[in-house]
Amino acid sequence: MLVKISKKNYFYLRQASLNGNYERGGILIGKFTRQNSIISHVVEDKSSLNTSFASFTRKTKGIWNVLNNIVKNFPDYDYIGEWHTHPINVPSIPSKIDVETMFSILGAKEYGYPTKLILLIASPSDKIRAWIFEENTFLEAKIKICHII
Ligand SMILES: [Zn+2]
Repeated sequence: MLVKISKKNYFYLRQASLNGNYERGGILIGKFTRQNSIISHVVEDKSSLNTSFASFTRKTKGIWNVLNNIVKNFPDYDYIGEWHTHPINVPSIPSKIDVETMFSILGAKEYGYPTKLILLIASPSDKIRAWIFEENTFLEAKIKICHII
């Protein structure tokens, strides 16, 4: 499976990993096709600034309002996963907490019962890596940077 992302969104994630002394993160909007996944929007959860993102705790519902507004204009798209940055010298590999969190989101009512999820991790000392979570397994997927999504 390929994870397709626009150049613009890819560089947004790269920049986020480079210019923060804190971990940054948010949600991914897009769709899964039979072969690939397409990320149309990378939305940052600003409420998590200056806090550890390791717990994925969301203090406000603001990010879901952003999601709803986007889906109004792009009915094919929906919530498809999460992204966050890792500090320097921590590779873009899911931590134990990351894995537990993603499995807790799979099938969760408040996330719309997702059956498949992407986790994008951006670390300043590693490339941006994509991980697909499904049922009780996860594996790395190739990222394809596209000019237009
Ligand atoms: Zn992580």
